Amino acid sequence: MDLKFENSFAQLPSYFYSRTQATAVKDPKLIIFNQTLAEQLGVSGDLTNDNNHLAQIFSGNLCPTGAEPLATVYAGHQFGGFSPQLGDGRALLLGETVTANGEHFDIQLKGAGPTPYSRNGDGRSALGPVLREYLVSEAMHKLGVETTRALVAVTTGEEVARERLVAGGVITRVAKGFVRVGSFEYFSSQGNQEAVKQLADYEIARHFPETKNTDNPYVAFLAAVIDKQAKLIAQWMSIGFIHGVMNTDNMAISGETIDYGPCAFMDEFSHKRVYSSIDRNGRYAYSNQPQIGQWNLVRLAETLLPLFANRDKDPEGKVAVGIAEELLNDYQEKYQAYWLSGLRRKLGLRTAQEQDLTLVDNLLNIMEQNNADFTLTFYYLSQLSEEGSAKDEPLQKLFTQPNEINTWLTTWRKRLADESSIDKKRQTSMQSVNPIYIPRNHQIEKAIRLAEDQNDFSAFHSLNSVLQNPFSYQPGKENYMLPPKSDEVVHQTFCGT
Ligand code: AMP
Ligand code: MG
Repeated sequence: MDLKFENSFAQLPSYFYSRTQATAVKDPKLIIFNQTLAEQLGVSGDLTNDNNHLAQIFSGNLCPTGAEPLATVYAGHQFGGFSPQLGDGRALLLGETVTANGEHFDIQLKGAGPTPYSRNGDGRSALGPVLREYLVSEAMHKLGVETTRALVAVTTGEEVARERLVAGGVITRVAKGFVRVGSFEYFSSQGNQEAVKQLADYEIARHFPETKNTDNPYVAFLAAVIDKQAKLIAQWMSIGFIHGVMNTDNMAISGETIDYGPCAFMDEFSHKRVYSSIDRNGRYAYSNQPQIGQWNLVRLAETLLPLFANRDKDPEGKVAVGIAEELLNDYQEKYQAYWLSGLRRKLGLRTAQEQDLTLVDNLLNIMEQNNADFTLTFYYLSQLSEEGSAKDEPLQKLFTQPNEINTWLTTWRKRLADESSIDKKRQTSMQSVNPIYIPRNHQIEKAIRLAEDQNDFSAFHSLNSVLQNPFSYQPGKENYMLPPKSDEVVHQTFCGT
């Protein structure tokens, strides 16, 4: 198997990482190899058809030629408190590959053994979180959200000790970049300004080259990161995605969704929904996500302040703080604009009207009060015509008090009439942004249970296959559209660390 490696991160000074080799596992077996992604990355060679060889490479047992494995160091604010040193404790950057189009991607093994940053952890992953990350990250990609991708999942043939002994796995994930807000915090908190600058230069060259030739590239860099996060979080919100652990070490500078731990998509809508077992105070609840995004960006901005203004001219840092504050204040407005334009598309609105935010808020409140399913509400809405008809029924049935949604529908329809909406066109457009299939938690759980308990990956593969086309109705796959029955509801998700 061939991959062209370039490994630019390994050329940074050694304080950014520790060169680390994977620790071999007993009996790796391939669960899935993402052929489409592999082709995009330019993975070639006959051996891609050899499952055993793939399992050896993507478990860490065989290091591919040209790879220079390393674990990166970072810090992070976890649930608001600062941890001065974290790092890739169970992840290993194999290397950076360059595609035929000249795009750079980092390839990382997760669960391939201890690194100098593992502290008390074992550097391993349980199979459950591997399958969850594979399913959800690939689904996010198909839903049009920036995300790390999943290339391979393997079982290790070894057990890992969690609450009990469970099967181990390794996931290979691919990203435009794994540098996090916490990477900047690590060097900033140590007072290593040179490293902060080097890291900023690295990220600018890699992700934001357009900012390089501006008056102050670091200011433009922060502005670009803010914009990407505002857009990303607005997308999460518009599909009912809850990240679960929005610590600063889990926020990528590249603007990709990263570190799928106790994440989940909502079934019944609630602003306050939390799934993560470790989020006891609801810090990362659904409706807190936009604000937490800003909080994390403030932490990033703090690390960049010394690069914003010349210290001789700005000895107290007031100019720098002023610049940062202005950019951070823009976040709110940017987020709101992304969110509203996303929701307009979901509601099939072509024009922008002043009362649109109220229309959206009212719908969400009615959904919340009536325990309506988030995904199905928008999906059924995208089937409706401007005239009320029998087609309204499936939507009405999602609401405990249909009269409230009926009143809302009257306002929505009036709004459609005002902009001379054409049914067919609007429905097609709405159906292209309102998914039918999302990785529902109970389906993920079913797939994990079967895999862990019976070494049977059929449910995992079926679910993964349905999620490849989230916007297309797939005959015979109605089961995957449905919310959980009362005995299938998953109330909590776990990190699995
Ligand atoms: P996470 O929950 O994945 O964001 O991890 C937070 C920190 O704990 C990171 O520094 C991880 O590298 C580390 N960590 C998580 N799980 C493990 C593990 N099984 N072994 C070693 N370190 C881990
Ligand atoms: Mg993490």
